[in-house]
Amino acid sequence: MSKNFPDASPETLAAQALGFVEPLTGAVTPPVYIASTYEREADLTYARGHIYGRPDNQTVRLAEGVLTKLENGTASLLVASGMSAATGIFMALKPGDTALVPEVMYWGVRKWLNEWGAEWGVKIVYYQNDDMAALKALTEQHRPALIWAETPSNPMWTVTDLAEAARIAHSVGAKLAVDSTVATPVLSRPLEHGADLVMHSATKYINGHSDVIAGAIVTAKEDDFWRRIVAIRKDVGTIIGPFEAWLLLRGMRTLHIRVRAASANAMAIAQHFEKHPKLERMLYPGLPAHPGHAIAARQMSGGFSGMLSMRVKGGEQKAIALAANLKLFKRATSLGGVESLVEHRRSIEGDTSPVPGDLLRFSVGIEKIEDLIADLEQALAAI
Ligand code: PLP
Repeated sequence: MSKNFPDASPETLAAQALGFVEPLTGAVTPPVYIASTYEREADLTYARGHIYGRPDNQTVRLAEGVLTKLENGTASLLVASGMSAATGIFMALKPGDTALVPEVMYWGVRKWLNEWGAEWGVKIVYYQNDDMAALKALTEQHRPALIWAETPSNPMWTVTDLAEAARIAHSVGAKLAVDSTVATPVLSRPLEHGADLVMHSATKYINGHSDVIAGAIVTAKEDDFWRRIVAIRKDVGTIIGPFEAWLLLRGMRTLHIRVRAASANAMAIAQHFEKHPKLERMLYPGLPAHPGHAIAARQMSGGFSGMLSMRVKGGEQKAIALAANLKLFKRATSLGGVESLVEHRRSIEGDTSPVPGDLLRFSVGIEKIEDLIADLEQALAAI
């Protein structure tokens, strides 16, 4: 922890990995602790707080410490993927519990809930992401144990009012958990809006270099529900590996500048192409025409993320042709890296997907904006 500036801003603490200096050599970057087991004292205690690598790893704890600061929480857990973070929260529910989840959400979580939720004994009820009156009515009807939100939600970028969702959840004693992968703690801190848990696919912006699969959960309180989540990570064995935790530590040191640069690029692209004659619609919460703009502007600061989607005139084939024409944007899944990506989501998600076929999702990176705009211009001109 930063000895000299204990009250430094999260941005400063992240840049310095909480001011870490390794005591043996003075190294300003932490080592990777790779031990799977730790020495016991003669009296059989573990005075140094580490027993075995499945629950205990100092590189993991360091990275968790940074993330806890960034989200303004009280504790964090790093796990092997965003999916193991999301499912770890749902697995902490009890058979017979109900979870309210949004219609538009990361498809992998929706798929897992549809395939396993019922078998797990958890009832899943869907709500429309941006309809808080409907969420309230469903909450009163079903009295859920958990409300799940994802904002902006992948890949339509619908915005959910977090403060209102938290009030609704708490009115029946439910928890609000938020997949904040796209917003990142740079742009939005859901716990400050009343959420109980924040989840990230740390594969995305938290790492930022498209070379780690990781997930994270941050909690507002270390209560019984949190202790169940901690026990699941330990007992199921989903802890992140030490090398991956170290890469996350390195990624978080530049999180703020990466996210701000990607958000500025995405905003420039959204504004430049919003009225393009070959596009049906530009989906980006930073545009005043976006239905969720006012709420996004209230609960996000410093930008609206690097993610946007375009609906292409002429339907699915034209959208696929546009992606085929792009030269700088790589056709690849995932998001949140420094390089720009484009993806036709419908062909990934399949026919049960609510995503329209004419939609292309863009993860805007930190390249020079003129190059990205020129690439999109030439690709649009060619369809
Ligand atoms: N949540 C969101 C919003 C995502 O975009 C993703 C992955 O694309 C996930 C969760 C799942 O994360 P992971 O691929 O790290 O398991």
